[in-house]
Amino acid sequence: MICDEEKEEFYQALIRKNSLYEGVFFVAVTSTGIFCRPTCPARKPKIQNCEFYKTAQEALIAGFRPCKRCRPLSPPNEVSDLIVKLVAAVEKEPEKRWTDKDFRELSVDASTARRQFKKRFGMTFVEYARARRMGIAMKQVKSGESLIQAQLSVGYESSSGFRDAFSKIMGKAPNKSKETRVFNAAWIDTELGPMIAIADDQQLYLLEFVDRRGLEREIERLRQKMGAAIVPGETEAIQSIKKELCLYFQGKLSTFSTPLALLGSDFQKTVWKSLMEIPPGETRSYTELAQAIGKPSACRAVARANGANQIAIVIPCHRVINSNGELGGYGGGLGRKKYLIDHEKNLP
Ligand SMILES: [Zn+2]
Repeated sequence: MICDEEKEEFYQALIRKNSLYEGVFFVAVTSTGIFCRPTCPARKPKIQNCEFYKTAQEALIAGFRPCKRCRPLSPPNEVSDLIVKLVAAVEKEPEKRWTDKDFRELSVDASTARRQFKKRFGMTFVEYARARRMGIAMKQVKSGESLIQAQLSVGYESSSGFRDAFSKIMGKAPNKSKETRVFNAAWIDTELGPMIAIADDQQLYLLEFVDRRGLEREIERLRQKMGAAIVPGETEAIQSIKKELCLYFQGKLSTFSTPLALLGSDFQKTVWKSLMEIPPGETRSYTELAQAIGKPSACRAVARANGANQIAIVIPCHRVINSNGELGGYGGGLGRKKYLIDHEKNLP
């Protein structure tokens, strides 16, 4: 997270085109939807239109596209033709999921693309395209716009690509003549980065960090299982989890009471419930968890059920570590797992 003080510092660096800040931050301009490096030659935006990000990936996920003048995704003047070509191809069809065949059609070698993107941006081309696609959908969730408003105000986005990118992830807009369930999705900023919450009026179905690997598939599975369309917005359950997360990160709340919808097999539900019985500030090993549910030999299955948790933090899968005391895995990233475990030691 960028604090106010840093924001002021970054803004001064931006105004002065201070090259010492290259790689320290990226500035995203809400009025244009573009993000830039600090030294961009373009006219400088007003501070109230600036959002600052420490990595390009965060700016992409927040729904911004790279500036064509300062090319924030590459070291100055060092971008290859191949990268230029592929970035342009993504902007043309942001909804697209790339396959080897698409690369062949552009006469691009997939493994060269992967290597060059990795080297320049720290992510592969497919990850880049996914981040951009997610970003477009997430931007709508973040702004809370209704689908129709968004369709009317597509502005700089290519309109069909924009709609397709959203509906590919969140589902087609609900059709009034059919009885489709509608879930709402909302963006929640937290100490550990932005999260997305998906809920109906009564219950929370999903809570994840927006940069979590595999989130796109997770949302799709939820949608298909429930036969639901997802539109940006807030429900009572979302307002409740927002308030609770805020108190949790302030260190004032340790037990969540937002109603949860647990979508899983009986075994998974048993594991998730027993996760919620681990007191905050404590950890268990997978073996201990397997013993706790009376299936001491089901260690691996317990670990898998743990990984399938879709309600991060509230169902505290971060409280499970390896038997040897190492942190083990975490879908949201190990830095977050460590933070959560440490943070919970000081909860009431
Ligand atoms: Zn720029």
